[in-house]
Amino acid sequence: MKILNEFKCTFPADPANEALARATVSAFLIPADPTAQELADLRTVISEAVTNAIVHGYRNTEGEVSVTLRMLPERVIYIRVSDKGCGIPDVNKAMQPLYTSAPEEDRAGLGFAIMQTFTDSLHVRSAPGHGTVLTMRRRLGKDHEAQP
Ligand code: ATP
Ligand code: MG
Repeated sequence: MKILNEFKCTFPADPANEALARATVSAFLIPADPTAQELADLRTVISEAVTNAIVHGYRNTEGEVSVTLRMLPERVIYIRVSDKGCGIPDVNKAMQPLYTSAPEEDRAGLGFAIMQTFTDSLHVRSAPGHGTVLTMRRRLGKDHEAQP
């Protein structure tokens, strides 16, 4: 599929960079003039994905998280978040709402459910010991009518 615009970045797996990831989505979407709801949804989505890479993928050890944002035809935004951390042994189990491998950290096990709710598609590719790649797509609403 034709890529109309693309932004890529890689940053250390530091929780301080979660805000940076949210900011990249906001800035990238400016030309598409998203609604406040679309913006809030997609900021939440990237936040959940990047947080998972940091806290589960690297378990707060050092590593890097990569983000790719693409604008595709028909106002589809593509978001890819990857890490080279521990990987997910059972993806289906991990994606079940309320499943968490870190209940002692007061995690709700809702990150994947939130990402699924706020996107049109979510794909997870993971290999234990090698890392995890999330790809998500969300179609934005129609172009805003020109103001009279
Ligand atoms: P919450 O997101 O509500 O704080 P959570 O992170 O445990 O809780 P999910 O985001 O749904 O819940 O993730 C479910 C589980 O999938 C995690 O507990 C973890 O075991 C696993 N997981 C998710 N992302 C990764 C990742 N990038 N690397 C390794 N494991 C992951
Ligand atoms: Mg999570």
